[in-house]
Amino acid sequence: MTAVHTDILEEIRALKVRENATILAHYYQDGEIQELADITGDSLQLSRAATKVDRSTIVFCGVHFMAETAKILNPTRRVLMPDLAAGCSLADSCPADKLARYQEMLRINGRHFQTVTYINSTAAVKALSDWVVTSGNAQEIVRRVPEEYEILFVPDRHLGQYIQEVTGRKMILWNGSCMVHEIFSVGDLLALKKKMPHALTIAHPECPANIREHSDFIGGTEAMVRYVARIEAPTDFLVATEANMLWQLQTKVPRHRYLPVPGITCACNKCPHMARNTLEKLRDCLAHGAPEITWQPEFDRAREVLQRSLLQ
Ligand code: SF4
Repeated sequence: MTAVHTDILEEIRALKVRENATILAHYYQDGEIQELADITGDSLQLSRAATKVDRSTIVFCGVHFMAETAKILNPTRRVLMPDLAAGCSLADSCPADKLARYQEMLRINGRHFQTVTYINSTAAVKALSDWVVTSGNAQEIVRRVPEEYEILFVPDRHLGQYIQEVTGRKMILWNGSCMVHEIFSVGDLLALKKKMPHALTIAHPECPANIREHSDFIGGTEAMVRYVARIEAPTDFLVATEANMLWQLQTKVPRHRYLPVPGITCACNKCPHMARNTLEKLRDCLAHGAPEITWQPEFDRAREVLQRSLLQ
């Protein structure tokens, strides 16, 4: 570790105390950011953790919809994020105005439905929804939707398809996807499995069906941690999710070996949006108190939906 690197870590720690801040970091952040964080987790854990932060400031190291969710669930806290432009291809695939028009069209056609929305969406989209789910609680929430309703599931068609398979509930699927999980190469996965026939494959449900069907375990990032922790004998795992998750797996359950499943266009599968957050930007947002997530009119309705879905 260089002296400059050590300096910036110390600066961040000092600023965190000065600003009375709690740092939350998603599992897809670089390991050095996760190491600095007070709390790491998947979207569900971080949303719940945000409600319990008693310091005056939350610094959210993740993407925009996550920081927005933290603000919505704990409105009296100042919520900062290192880079306001850290977005999400999945959230972008479902603009609120387009969703509102589609819902209207379904209603005009006499369809009786509830909208179940993956947390990777804007607050404006959550405000148009009946339920919000994460990969960690999607099956449970879908089972809570009364049978007399159809389900409109937005925005991730792969997660929707997977939940349809495991719950047996038929859904109208929005045509969105995550740019990171969509590019895993099934050809490379099969070649790896042939080379390492003893290895187990674990995949995020945002992966397309052709990856999921070759996996031994499918689950969100927290479920992955629990799954590998249950296996006592040192094991090789091929991991089909964002590459920084390997740091978290290696840190929490170091007896195993973890290898990333390669993508079609790149071997690392790192989320470019998450990668916008750097140590320098984390330091600067604490030093300047910006950028900040401020309350927006749609947050009130989104709060009702989030509370009902994630906290009750
Ligand atoms: S990994 Fe995919 S779903 Fe997650 S923030 Fe990046 S683009 Fe969005």
